[in-house]
Amino acid sequence: VLKYSPFVVSFRKHYPWVQLSGHAGNFQAGEDGRILKRFCQCEQRSLEQLMNDPLRPYVPTYYGVVQKDGQAFNQMEDLLADFEGPSIMDCKMGSRTYLEEELVKARERPRPRKDMYEKMVAVDPGAPTPEEHAQGAVTKPRYMQWRETVSSTSTLGFRIEGIKKADGTCNTNFKKTQELEQVTKVLEDFVDGNHGILREYVARLEKLREALENSPFFRTHEVVGSSLLFVHDYSGLAKVWMIDFGKTVALPDHQTLSHRLPWAEGNREDGYLWGLDNMIRLLQGLTQS
Ligand code: ATP
Ligand code: MG
Ligand code: MG
Repeated sequence: VLKYSPFVVSFRKHYPWVQLSGHAGNFQAGEDGRILKRFCQCEQRSLEQLMNDPLRPYVPTYYGVVQKDGQAFNQMEDLLADFEGPSIMDCKMGSRTYLEEELVKARERPRPRKDMYEKMVAVDPGAPTPEEHAQGAVTKPRYMQWRETVSSTSTLGFRIEGIKKADGTCNTNFKKTQELEQVTKVLEDFVDGNHGILREYVARLEKLREALENSPFFRTHEVVGSSLLFVHDYSGLAKVWMIDFGKTVALPDHQTLSHRLPWAEGNREDGYLWGLDNMIRLLQGLTQS
């Protein structure tokens, strides 16, 4: 019996990389199994600290800053690399999607945004106020707050940003997916009703929640606009990671957050754990249906 063939060559695995949100130009292929994301200081700081925190198993491994074509990037683990034809979902966590400091800036120095007005009108022509219609513009926090109220961010503490399934179907238009029944349907469809996958996700999310509750990093940071990336494939492998720390900022000395209490301006609560509790309960419910 031939145990070793002299001509075995391992080829680098090639797979299409999928990006479910953000600007298309923000990402590039990195070294094998790694990706490059446009540099952001806030994200660098967070990823560096997370490498020495109980949350490390739940975030992409961070490989530092690299320069490419005169631009800086954060290099990190490609979370899709171990999957074969994966289904992917990006859920933006928390009950608030802009930083308190953005709100303060917009109030002190309002910058009317025409692009955001147009995005708003495209979803609901009746949403802008008469003044906003007259200006043909809205401020960024105004746009973000409106997005929260029409999506499940305000009602469940998370919202689905995008899904790409193994069969190739892709949907990034969940802007008005708000009702519990709608969200439940989308999640059920994402896993094709597969209870094994659902149980894997629930188990991983419960461990993540425990890690969050024990994380010095999480306790001392306002985590806004961060997502959970869900990935599974036909082999039954199903995992979840935290991604996107571009708006994760340290609190002033000695301040900590519950991540469950309702937000009132000044308390900096982000509703992250409230959303995760709701997400786990919802997925658990699906495993029993
Ligand atoms: P936005 O702030 O608009 O959400 P962004 O530019 O901050 O966008 P991210 O949210 O970090 O970008 O990532 C965008 C998408 O890229 C994610 O939804 C996911 O599909 C993919 N992605 C990000 N990081 C990784 C990773 N480490 N491995 C695999 N896929 C990733
Ligand atoms: Mg994101
Ligand atoms: Mg981001």
